[in-house]
Amino acid sequence: MITRRQFILGMGALTVSTLLSASCGTRKVLTKTGEEKDKPKPPECDWIIDNIWIIDGTGKPAYQGKLAVKGDKISALGDFPLPPSVRIIDGEGLTLSPGFIDIHTHTEDYVHSGESLAPFLSQGVTTQVGGNCGNSPKDIRGFLETMPGLSINYGMLMGYRSLRELAMGGRKPGKTTPAQLTCMQEHLAESFKAGVLGLSIGLEYWPQNYAVTEEIIELCQVVKEYKGFYATHIRSEYDQVESALAEAIEIGNKAGVPVQYSHIKAGYKRNWSKFPNMLKMLEEAKSSGLDITADVYPYTYSSTDIGRNPFSHSMSEENLARAAAHSQVFFASDTGIYTGGRAIHPRAYGNFPRVLGKLVREKQIISLEEAVHKMTALPAKRLRLENRGILAPGYKADLVLFEPEKIIDKATRKDTTLFSEGVRHVWINGKRAWENGQETKVYNGEILTY
Ligand SMILES: [Zn+2]
Repeated sequence: MITRRQFILGMGALTVSTLLSASCGTRKVLTKTGEEKDKPKPPECDWIIDNIWIIDGTGKPAYQGKLAVKGDKISALGDFPLPPSVRIIDGEGLTLSPGFIDIHTHTEDYVHSGESLAPFLSQGVTTQVGGNCGNSPKDIRGFLETMPGLSINYGMLMGYRSLRELAMGGRKPGKTTPAQLTCMQEHLAESFKAGVLGLSIGLEYWPQNYAVTEEIIELCQVVKEYKGFYATHIRSEYDQVESALAEAIEIGNKAGVPVQYSHIKAGYKRNWSKFPNMLKMLEEAKSSGLDITADVYPYTYSSTDIGRNPFSHSMSEENLARAAAHSQVFFASDTGIYTGGRAIHPRAYGNFPRVLGKLVREKQIISLEEAVHKMTALPAKRLRLENRGILAPGYKADLVLFEPEKIIDKATRKDTTLFSEGVRHVWINGKRAWENGQETKVYNGEILTY
């Protein structure tokens, strides 16, 4: 009897042969009979990882092969002749995929203070985006210029709360004036020039909840000008969740900007039945032309649920499965983490291994290839990262080598800082940042800007 996994791997092997000639250099040679034939030549590279299953991030089935890296980029993958003298790493039959991209975190202060990024590297994370839910430093330029050397790539969003405070001279209630709106627009434009990827907002939080729809549409004109995106923690994640989502869609449509719906959920049991309609709203918005996606973390409880009755969970298992399987939803962590690596929620240490161990392997909600796609190519597309999120020649060598049969989160509600298991190696821009359970202290991460 063959298992589903073996069957999928077998299917994958069939596609290898079709990829060979496309994925590496070829030259024409004449055969004895005089006809031209493609003969592959060894790729230019600094090192090669051999004996791996490749999951390239596009959603295509896994296939066996090897991957070559030159400098900070992938130079070949699939099957190709080995150059005469080059360092070869044995992948031991494990799975190599693009490094995981976490579009929704609150790690900016932690990362800026130079703390260990082992909690993220140990999950296979190679890129994070901070400044979510409206909370970011006010001076983005200064923040990015003083960033220490990082072992992961990092991008920032500009937060609405900070813009408000800049324009209003502090944390104040009330609606902004037209002059204050202009001031916010100017600061937002400055932030884009300094390198942010988008505007974030946390409409459920005081005093961000004073923002009115029209004001946000006006702010999003700046987002549009700089080709960024609008990341929204919507106005209600509970009883008013559907009208809050409708507002996000309206803002995207009227401003003409892509929308990232942060940590999708219908909180509290009485709202769980609304979830299928919310997914339908996403589909309808997309088919009417809006570029809208959502992110989800693979837990049924939020950080505010921690310490509460475990049965007051904010999400149902069923809705989490619906979100995970939906084509407009991908994975992110919503990680918050504090001095010394303290964490309130286990997702800071477990988010991505939990997707692969629980949702893929245990519950079989989605395939391994789909899950990788939702942690790599999809978030890369939202961030307009044209050379990350996929394994292909010319793309940055952000790589994770993991054990698909073992990878799992260990952190729990009680013990939130236990490291995940199953990630063997992580490379950031061609250099190894995580090796057999240890940080290499190689700081090869880049600040991501447009
Ligand atoms: Zn949020």
